[in-house]
Order: sequence, then structure tokens, then C-alpha cells
Amino acid sequence: MGLSFEVKESDLLGRIGSLKVGGKALETPYMFPVIHPVNQLIPPSELLSMGFRGLMTNSYILMKRRKAEALESGIHRLLGFDGIFITDSGGYQVLEYGDLDVGYADVAEFQAAIGTELAVTLDRPTGYPQRRPVARETVEYSLKNARATLAEFGGRPTAWVGPIQGGLYLDLVKRSAKALVGAGFGILALGSPVQVMENYMYSDLVDMVMAARRAIPYSVPLHLFGAGHPLTMPLAVALGCDTFDSASYVLFARAGRYMSRSGILTLQSMKYLPCSCPVCSKTTVKELLELDHQRRTGALSLHNLHVLREELEGCKEAISEGRLWDLVEERSMAHPRLRDAFLRMARYSADLEAGTPAMKERGLFVRSDVDLLRPELAMASRRLAGAAKRSSKKAVLLGVRERRGPPPAGADAYLLHPHLGPVPAELGFQYPFSQTESALAQSGGDAEGAKRRLRAKGYSSVSAGGKVRSRRNRRGASPSPRSSSARSR
Ligand SMILES: [Zn+2]
Repeated sequence: MGLSFEVKESDLLGRIGSLKVGGKALETPYMFPVIHPVNQLIPPSELLSMGFRGLMTNSYILMKRRKAEALESGIHRLLGFDGIFITDSGGYQVLEYGDLDVGYADVAEFQAAIGTELAVTLDRPTGYPQRRPVARETVEYSLKNARATLAEFGGRPTAWVGPIQGGLYLDLVKRSAKALVGAGFGILALGSPVQVMENYMYSDLVDMVMAARRAIPYSVPLHLFGAGHPLTMPLAVALGCDTFDSASYVLFARAGRYMSRSGILTLQSMKYLPCSCPVCSKTTVKELLELDHQRRTGALSLHNLHVLREELEGCKEAISEGRLWDLVEERSMAHPRLRDAFLRMARYSADLEAGTPAMKERGLFVRSDVDLLRPELAMASRRLAGAAKRSSKKAVLLGVRERRGPPPAGADAYLLHPHLGPVPAELGFQYPFSQTESALAQSGGDAEGAKRRLRAKGYSSVSAGGKVRSRRNRRGASPSPRSSSARSR
């Protein structure tokens, strides 16, 4: 069974895609909830009914604890789930328990035999913090196993996932990713973000993901291991991570932790349940606290899964509407370290252009200085440089009222954009030249500055129409005659 990935819509490096494997399909971005192969609290059938069409489980634990059963019935029948399974190799456990009897071939043979659709080859997580020589060794070990697995088991129906290691050593991440692509892997997975995320090192996460993404062709999907924090999901999606896996929903639940849009809350100190999921709408904090630990963990797990699912749906809607940047920015306000990560992402703006549509239906918001780095503005600025041609010696900077009238005769007409400066009036109806709503002082110059810039272009006479006003602080005004679609409000 082959693996295919088709990008349907994109914004920044985030994309809505169709991942097909083994005759089954998933829409990405997608998070595989991790289930325990022996002791699973939420039944897989319930996960399916919540819309989760793929699950991850650990093949090493399955092999050690339920090998005979798994081989006899296959993973789908054994765990009662007919969707897509991705199995982790258990590289971490092999290392942890010093199980030297298990090699790449045992793990691969088992994963293929139980019929998992996606299987990670036996790797060794780099971890954090880690010394460079050890990090390099984890990369080489994981690569060697990956190549050997593909050579030996590549013909099996299971699709193999190439694990990228290297941790915070970005050159190692790059080498790892390039080598896996070169070896022929159709899907890669970036390792080691768990400790990085637990330490709130979100900016480092941005660098890691970008190091990997830059080394991988756009058409190859990227999985991010162990990423199940709702606040970081839009960021990871924006950087080009297509799938995730996490047990966070149950791990947090076990510790009495409640996921929310503004972060992780502690049930014990909460008074209200700010959520309308089927769990929260039928209970109270007090009632949850009165449940025994197992039942409370079950209820909180379901709530947490709803939050994660909602966040992913929100990412997809944002991609579709062309406002993924805005979503990442909004989420970044929840924590100063996330804000740092958003600033770090903005530094990669040139990379983010690859998936950003040149035309969008919705107005462009500039809410902070960081937004001046939006890829849409950089792309528009280049279009402007290529488009501005002088056809007269006279230029007119159109006032707000003249913009609606016929173009002035015998002069080139310009509009004033708050951040791009004078824009030829004929581009006025193109995104984002008059569809920008800005809360900032003009960085593209005021009317006097615009006149100076036009004179510098060779105009001998530059006049201004009535009130030349850029689109700053026009609260309640419709963005433009052409952009007043339902989406822009
Ligand atoms: Zn809830």
C-alpha cells in the first residue's frame, strides 16, 4: 500500500492536506492521540466517534506484552480500531531498558506483521540537553536503522516513517532530514521536542522545525513527535508540521490538568469550566473533583481531546481563510515564551512565503510591529517595485474621496498605503494594497513623505487630493469596496 500526500490549501507553511495510506485517508493537520496498547482508558471506538481517524501506539510495548495476540489478530482487531495506525518503534524504551536483544529488523518485522499503516523505524531519541558527540551518534544510529529497514522491508504494505534526530544541533537535524529524503522516505518525523517544549523553549522549537522543513521537499509531509500542547499547535502547523502525536490529553488529565485556550489550568484551583464540550457542559468543577481518580482522569481526558481537536480545526479554518499568521499571533499572547517564538517565526518570513497565497479574500491586519514582517507585505512590496512605472511627469496622491471617482487625466494616480507608501491606484483593488487594516503609526510615510518619494521617482509635480488618509484606525469602516466579503468581518 502506497503513501500519498496532496496539499489542498495552504497559508504560511501550514497546509490542509490529504494523507492516504493503506487505502485509508486522513485530513491534515492531524494529531494522532497516543493510546496505551495494554492499559487504555478511553476506548479507541470513542476516539473514532470524536473524529479521530488515526491513532498512535507503541510497538515495542505491544511486542513485549501482547506479541502473540497481536501477530494473530493484527493491530486493528486487537485494539478495536479500523482507522490508520502509526506505531512508534519504541527506540526510547529499548534504550531505557537496555534491551539489546531488539534490533531494527525485529521491530520492523513485527510492525509490518501486525499490519500497521505507518511505522517509525527504530531510532534513538537525541533528547535535551545533550552533548554534541552523543547527539551525532543518535543521528547516525537512527539513520543506519532507517536505511536498513527501508532496504529490507520497503516492499511491505506498511509505509515507513523516517525519524529525524539531532535535537538542538540544527546542522545535525538538517543532515538527518536530508539523508532520510535521499534514502527515499515519503514521510519524516522530527524527534525530541518533548523536553524542549516542557522547558518552554518554543523559540528553539521554531529553529528545529525550520531546520528540518528547509531540508525536506514541500511535497513531503512532516510529523512532529510528542506535540500535544494546544497553544503550540498553530505555531507548529504554521512552520509546516502536518501531523502530531501526543499522550498529553491523558497525562495532563491524570495530573488533574485542564487544557484551555489560554493555557493549562489546574482543576483543583478552578471555579468554572470555560468550555462547552460534552463533558464540561454536563458537569461542574465540584462534581469532577468528587469523582474517583480514574473517572476524573477519563472525563478530563475527553475534555482535553476536545480542546486539541478544536484547536486543529481552528488551524484548518485559519489556513482556509488565509489568517494562520493571525491565529499564531493570537495564541502567542498566552505566554511570553510563545511570544518570543512568534517573533522567531517572523524572522523566517521569507520561508513562509512558499505557502502563502499572493491573493487573499480577507483584509490584512497589522496589529503589532511584528506584523510588519508578514510575508504578505514582503510579497506585496516586491510586486509594487515591479509594477510602479512612471507614464507622466505629474503624480496625484488620491484623497479618500477621489479614490472613488474617475482617475485624474494627465497624471499618474497613487494611493497611500500605511506601510508600503505610495501605491499606483490601478493596484488599489489588488490584495493587500487597500485591504490593509493597521493599528500602527504609518511606517510607509505620511502624505508629505509619499510626495518626496514620488518626486524621487522623477515626477516633477506631485499634488495631493483631498484628505489623504491611509487605512489606519478606521474603526468600523468597510475595508474596501472589493474586499467587503463576508470573510473580512
Ligand atoms: Zn470541555
